Amino acid sequence: MDCDILIIGAGIIGAALAAELSLRRYRVVVLEAGLPGAATSAAGMGHLVVLDDNPAELALARDGVTRWQSCQDRLPTNVEYRTCGTLWLARTREEMLEAERKHTFYRAINLPSQLLTAAALYATEPHLAPGLAGALLRPDEAVIYPPTAVTWLLAQAQSRGTAVLSRQRVIDIAPNRVRTAEGRIWHAEQIVVAAGNVSPHLLPGLPMQPRKGQLVITERYPDYVRHQLVALDYLQSAHSNTANSVAFNVQPRATGQLLIGSSRSFDDTGTQVDWPLISRMLTTAFSYLPGLAELQAIRTWTGFRPATPDKLPLLGRWPVAESIWLATGHEGLGITTALSSAALLADLIDGQPSQIDPAPYCPSRFVPASTQRKEMA
Ligand SMILES: Cc1cc2nc3c(=O)[nH]c(=O)nc-3n(C[C@H](O)[C@H](O)[C@H](O)COP(=O)(O)OP(=O)(O)OC[C@H]3O[C@@H](n4cnc5c(N)ncnc54)[C@H](O)[C@@H]3O)c2cc1C
Repeated sequence: MDCDILIIGAGIIGAALAAELSLRRYRVVVLEAGLPGAATSAAGMGHLVVLDDNPAELALARDGVTRWQSCQDRLPTNVEYRTCGTLWLARTREEMLEAERKHTFYRAINLPSQLLTAAALYATEPHLAPGLAGALLRPDEAVIYPPTAVTWLLAQAQSRGTAVLSRQRVIDIAPNRVRTAEGRIWHAEQIVVAAGNVSPHLLPGLPMQPRKGQLVITERYPDYVRHQLVALDYLQSAHSNTANSVAFNVQPRATGQLLIGSSRSFDDTGTQVDWPLISRMLTTAFSYLPGLAELQAIRTWTGFRPATPDKLPLLGRWPVAESIWLATGHEGLGITTALSSAALLADLIDGQPSQIDPAPYCPSRFVPASTQRKEMA
């Protein structure tokens, strides 16, 4: 065998896994088709946020945020970890009732949260449009710059002997064996597919779909906003299955730039910017932060969230072959959940109990029993 564990893909998920598995003394090799961290992980916002649409999403996101918090003192400055907190903005009385419901729920599960009246909200974020009802503050949430986080995670793995090989595209997987485009065969005790949106090309039948997103970034306007600002109706966009949606989401970067999001589209698989959708996204953003319209935008880009039908990742053994594992399908939360996903999968590979129940993320939830019985050749 060339190694104990071979990881396909060096995005945030493959990188976090390499760091975790090398810490557990496995001999790890990472094969990356392009450059580490340059695919979806370079396109995201880097908001470390607890979403709670269902208990499984909450468990993984909460554990992920906690793990990032606990390593913040070790992160290099270029990872730009900043505890700016999240402000969930309520526009109407109904949305404020939702903020209150969330606040009660968070208190019950010991997550820090605070309700802000409209006056308190405008005192801390004076550029917001008048007329908002208030907000819910999650003070301990943070932002990072994902590409440098990938570099940091891989550097930890490399310092423990992991080989990270760029421009090595895997084109074929079989039990204990993969083949690259250059024709090299690698043998490994275990193989982990962490190839993001490309995972279904490697394992046909994986129920995943790329979900396009678009972001805009401005010139530097330090302290224009202080928190990650998110409309409470963002969750409807994140969890909907409609073709196109936009929601207000603005992040203050460490550089002073403002990162403006976001959109979600299922039917558009092209990498080009969808200008009508950007226009819808910005119109929504201006309705919350009217002054944004006067600021200078310098760049816009697209990225694809690797989505599963239930928006939960695939973490666990691929039921069709004993030695193949999945760590993919993280949709819009993969930066947040990278460290928790890595710990969970490493526990499964180790055969150890995990802090989080792995059942909701188990790939077998989508694989028909008939397929599971047919072992891969
Ligand atoms: C617009 C947008 C905003 C987002 N905002 C946030 C946010 O604020 N917070 C958050 O938590 N998440 C966010 N996300 C989601 C997050 O970015 C993703 O969930 C995460 O990056 C997925 O990481 P990954 O490692 O699975 O995929 P990727 O980063 O795509 O990594 C997969 C890697 O596998 C490699 N690969 C593919 N095929 C092969 C092959 N055949 N052989 C070898 N290597 C291969 C690729 O080159 C790539 O480097 C956002 C995403 C988008 C698009």
